[in-house]
Amino acid sequence: MRIYDIILKKRNGEELSKEEIDFVISGYVKGDIPDYQMPALLMAIYFKGLNKRETIDLTTAMINSGEVIDLSKIKGIKVDKHSTGGVGDKTSIVLGPMVAACGVPVAKLSGRGLGHTGGTIDKLESFSGFSVEMSENQFVRNVNDIGIAIGAQTANLVPADKMLYALRDVTATVDNISLIASSIMSKKLASGADAIILDVKTGDGAFMKDTDSAFELAKRLVDIGTGMGKETVAIVSDMEQPLGNAIGNAIEVEETINTLKGNGPEDLIELCLKLGSKMLMLAGVAKSEKDAVASLKETIDSGKALEKLKQFVKAQSGDPRQVDDPTLLPASNCELDVVSEKQGYIEKIHAETIGRSSLILGAGRETKESEIDLAAGIYLHKKVGDYVKKDEKLATLHTNNENKMQPAKEKMLTAYKFLNSKVAPRPLIFGEVSEDGVVYYKWK
Ligand code: URA
Repeated sequence: MRIYDIILKKRNGEELSKEEIDFVISGYVKGDIPDYQMPALLMAIYFKGLNKRETIDLTTAMINSGEVIDLSKIKGIKVDKHSTGGVGDKTSIVLGPMVAACGVPVAKLSGRGLGHTGGTIDKLESFSGFSVEMSENQFVRNVNDIGIAIGAQTANLVPADKMLYALRDVTATVDNISLIASSIMSKKLASGADAIILDVKTGDGAFMKDTDSAFELAKRLVDIGTGMGKETVAIVSDMEQPLGNAIGNAIEVEETINTLKGNGPEDLIELCLKLGSKMLMLAGVAKSEKDAVASLKETIDSGKALEKLKQFVKAQSGDPRQVDDPTLLPASNCELDVVSEKQGYIEKIHAETIGRSSLILGAGRETKESEIDLAAGIYLHKKVGDYVKKDEKLATLHTNNENKMQPAKEKMLTAYKFLNSKVAPRPLIFGEVSEDGVVYYKWK
């Protein structure tokens, strides 16, 4: 087999066999395929696509490039949750304790921030001493003892994805549905869960800018999961504006704690209840969405979810006192209120621009090596649909580096658009995809 012939075949729009896909992935990981031929194949795939069978074969080959986690020592049905990446998306940290408090084991490997989107692992490290590196034994013990563990994806989990993603990132081949789907699902399937719930984001803050392509991605993700024998459900949710009011790391953890205390923002709660109810049903502990929502709400009203968060933080060497008193979380030494230059109804808060402003403040990494400022971030006082007067506070910026304040403020003000008349509400959840097909919620 020759890589040249495989590139030519795909360039001409032909289907690749399983053997050819295995040859490419194992050859690339071993270093037999050079870095000038792989991007040529990625670009051919970008333009000609991969069908369902090829995408499943690519996912399998990627999984086989590294270790596969064995969660069989954990009792119960393990349901993993994954978001395709958003701004202000702290749902995993809210949901983990809620779902665990309902008796569903949460055994999750998460990633760090990527581009303008934040990562669960970085956010969790806002708790002093919190450890995301655990032996497999410790991970399993924590889930069996307290019902929840969240760790960082290890270097040996799908190494092919790490190599391919780095290449895609610099060759303009990231936003292809088959490549995104195989990248996400290889990591989820190698992480050992029994069932998977996916939150596919759509809008300007997401990889999929329009809802049709988000549904296409959702279908492809579900095809791969169910094709490989795991029950998989995807919902498509809005990322036209950030989720909740807080964007950053410690500031998002604080919003998570407030949410578990019953004071969360409406959009964050709605999304958590939707995703959480799917998790409870996939795990077989709720018969209907209505029952599941009632059980999830009860974990907040009774304080059980908050207590679970404390146990989780303590079990991973973090400081649970920060849950009782979030003022103990990292705090910035510079704050700036950003006021509106106009008056009117907010029509848009461009999510990607807000994510980029938060990066400027230090909440994300400019390069792989940069250190995160855990206290940096943005708090939005207004969301889409709200009315603001001129000079009224739109947001507060936080950073430990005063020099970053002005550029972040200038960038963030470009995120807003105003209207003189009321703004029609946009749905938060557009629909869901499962093995049974696509259900579009009322909007379509
Ligand atoms: N997230 C991933 O893990 N992979 C992609 O390709 C895109 C988003």
